Formats: sequence, structure tokens, C-alpha cells
Amino acid sequence: MGRTSTSGGPSLGDVVRAQKAIRDIAVRTPLYASDELHERIGRDVYLKLEVLQPTHAFKVRGAANRILAIPEDERHRGVVTVSTGNHGRAVAYVARRLGIPAVVYMSTLVGEHKVAAVRELGADVRIDGSDQDEAGARALAFAAEHRMTLVNPFDDPYVIAGQGTIGLELLEERTPATIIVPLGGGGLVSGIALVAKSIDPRIRVIGVSMERGPAMYVSQRAGAPTDVKEVATLADSLGGGIFLDNQHTFAMVRDLVDEIVLVSEEEIAAAMVLLLRSHHIAVEGGGAVGVAALLADRIEGSGEVVVVLSGANVDAATLARLVLTLEAGAA
Ligand SMILES: *Cc1c(COP(=O)(O)O)cnc(C)c1O
Repeated sequence: MGRTSTSGGPSLGDVVRAQKAIRDIAVRTPLYASDELHERIGRDVYLKLEVLQPTHAFKVRGAANRILAIPEDERHRGVVTVSTGNHGRAVAYVARRLGIPAVVYMSTLVGEHKVAAVRELGADVRIDGSDQDEAGARALAFAAEHRMTLVNPFDDPYVIAGQGTIGLELLEERTPATIIVPLGGGGLVSGIALVAKSIDPRIRVIGVSMERGPAMYVSQRAGAPTDVKEVATLADSLGGGIFLDNQHTFAMVRDLVDEIVLVSEEEIAAAMVLLLRSHHIAVEGGGAVGVAALLADRIEGSGEVVVVLSGANVDAATLARLVLTLEAGAA
């Protein structure tokens, strides 16, 4: 208990440095008080609007911090990454801002609108591999061959510190009893938990994943990084493995995160529709899992809650279909 740094992992100081480093690329996002959620669950709920970041997801924070840490004389060779979409978008965006090349590997599972979005940002997109782990192996080989820097989507101290800046921002404004964070590979929740537990260990940090393929949840139960079959889910940005040779996020989640909660596809859909209906905020499935967990009564305790709305990259057709389906069901 009380452990706030895993060996080789980032420290609170690294997060403070990241906040300065990325301030011209990532924006400081508002905390939005949700009257609707307050009424429904009886707790004060604040939404951390990472949907407002450039590229519409928090990932630009970690990507910026990692890429800016590459020594000046190596940066021009460019960066390589593997991504289900949002990380690739963030890397492409940051690379373009800095004027360096970006190569983004993706698995065949990734939706067409996410592929197109990365291409539009000027990156060289390569669809190779049947899942995230396989695409990752291809990216690694390409980076080594061309002496480019591989930007890991979550298991990297600079990336984790970049995501942790969300924790610094929100704790400058509020001291919630609970912070609820979408959980995929674990970079986001690790960074935020590092900051929260360093500043006040009583703050509960809850990770939320989808029932369909929750790699970190399965791995924590098994006591080691474990292969989980990647299946289609509304929360596709939380899909994929945590890498069997995970260096940081497995241990940080084990040591710093209080609980991992799972939500169903129906619960994710209900949260997305509520956020659109009540707040006029478009949130993708992976970004809505925290609200889904609250609405499904999976979050224990009392007091103020901050929920990270991590991303907005859902295509309009999917969102429209969910609204129509839920309304037909309710009628
Ligand atoms: C990547 C992503 C997550 C999960 O972040 P991890 O660091 O992989 O746990 C959550 N929400 C969105 C929108 C994402 O793109």
C-alpha cells in the first residue's frame, strides 16, 4: 500500500514535467458538472471532457510527451506505431505538428472511419495483422529496420506520464472521492492513478473495461499478462492485448488501481445515448464505459465522482443506429 511508483515507471515529477512539455499541443479540458447523472445516481458527477482534445481523444497527451522526448537529432527519421485508431491519430497529428514522418500499423479489425482519419492526418497507414498484437509485431520490426522510434500506445513511461496530466488538471480543480477511467492497455488509468495516489491515497481509482475482451482484467485475475481473444465491441478503442512482455501498466494497475469493473454492450450503448441526449456530447463506446458503469450501479461508495470521457471518435451512423434502437425499445 501507499506505493506510488513502480521501478522504471514514471514518477509524479515526470507527470509535472509532461504537463509543461505538451501544453502547446494538448489542451486543458474542462470538468463539466452533469445534472442528469447527479439526478440519476445521487452523487455529484463531473465529466472530464477529453473529447475536446485535438483528434478528439486524450491520446494526444501521451503521444506528444513521448515524441517530444526523442532527441532532436533522431526525430527527423520519424515515428512508427500500432493502433486501434485513436493512438494512431494522435501520433499522426503530433508528427505533422512537428514536421516529421509517421507510419501507423493497424490490424484488419479496425473500422474504416478510423483508418481514413489517420490517413487524412498525413500518416503512412499499413493494414497488417489480424489483431493488435500481430500488428504490433510488424510495427516493431519496421521501426528497427528503419531506425525510427516506436511510440508504444500505452506501455511507456513517457506515454503514461502524458496521460497522467489529466489527473493533475482535475485534481487542481477538485478532490473527488472516486475517479472513473476507461481501461484498455492501461496507460490512461496508470497515469491518473499515479497522480491521484501520490496526492491523496484515499481517492478511489476505478478502471472500466467492456465484458467483451477485457485484457487487463483477465490478466490481473491471472496474475500475469494474458492473451485475450479480441472480439468486436462498441468499445473498440479498449480492445487488444496488453502485450505479453508488458513492462509498466500491468504492475501499475495491480499496485495503484482499486478495482476493475466490466460493462456490457447494452450498458455502453445506453451511456452513449444518454450523453448525446442529455448533454449533446458525442462519445465513442470506449469513452462512455465510465458513465455506463455509473448508470449500471457498478460503482460503490459515496461522494463526488469524476468520470473521464476519453474520446469522441464514433461514426455518426453507429451513433444514430444506437439512438433509434434504444428509442424503439423504450417505446
Ligand atoms: C486508448 C483509449 C482508451 C484506453 O486507454 P489505455 O491507455 O489503452 O488504457 C480509452 N478511451 C479511448 C477513447 C481511447 O482511445
